[in-house]
Amino acid sequence: MSLIRLKSEQDIEKLRAAGNLVSRTLAEIAPLVKPGAVTADLDRVAEEFIRDHGAVPAFKGYTVGRAVFPATLCVSVDDVVVHGIPGDEPLKEGTLVSVDCGVVLDEFYGDSAYTFAVGEVSDELRDLCVATHRSLVLAIENSVPGRRIGDISAAVQTHCEGLGFGVVRDLVGHGIGRSLHEAPQVPNFGRRGVGRKLKEGMTFCIEPMISLGGSDVETDDDLWTVRTADRSPAAHYEHMVAVRKGGADVLTTFDYIEAVVAAPYKEAA
Ligand code: MG
Ligand code: MG
Repeated sequence: MSLIRLKSEQDIEKLRAAGNLVSRTLAEIAPLVKPGAVTADLDRVAEEFIRDHGAVPAFKGYTVGRAVFPATLCVSVDDVVVHGIPGDEPLKEGTLVSVDCGVVLDEFYGDSAYTFAVGEVSDELRDLCVATHRSLVLAIENSVPGRRIGDISAAVQTHCEGLGFGVVRDLVGHGIGRSLHEAPQVPNFGRRGVGRKLKEGMTFCIEPMISLGGSDVETDDDLWTVRTADRSPAAHYEHMVAVRKGGADVLTTFDYIEAVVAAPYKEAA
């Protein structure tokens, strides 16, 4: 088993600062997510905002084997689950777009993702967003000392599969700190009562990746873009969490986003 680095109070405050900047970056691009918007433009706005705040985009230049990620944001449209590369293709009315953002601030990483609705979306897509977001909330409620990683995983899987949605298994949440990806892995599927026991000072990202159809995914020839094998639309919400004595401490927030755009997972008043 790989070593889980427990964080001090000071480390957690630095992670909170990095998480807060990611949250504010997503809010900065939120009003730009509209039909006809070009995702490369969102990327430029995000990169400038991050650098203006004394941080560095975490994903730009991120390397896996011979694949080097070229952008600040992962922008994943429609059947793309994660790791979509921003480009010149305009956003289309009625689709979902998931935006994932990472920064390095004062040596610590921040990482969060949000699925936006482009214009008006169908009830089916809205239900997918509701389920994905709800599963994240349920997973966070399980992020307390004494529970296990499997409790988090099972919370996501049980909720989403119970509603008939597909849970992507090939990608998982992860510990975060002075590295973007640390131990433990936080899968979105698993069994209650199994896996690493949660301890105070653990910090990790929980990120359900849920599809309207099946759970299988494929990677495009660009080596990054991960889409559902059956081409069904997908949603992805991600928060950073610290396990504390009193419960889960969420280090990122969607409040800034939802101050400027309506949440696709909230029922209309
Ligand atoms: Mg992320
Ligand atoms: Mg992540």
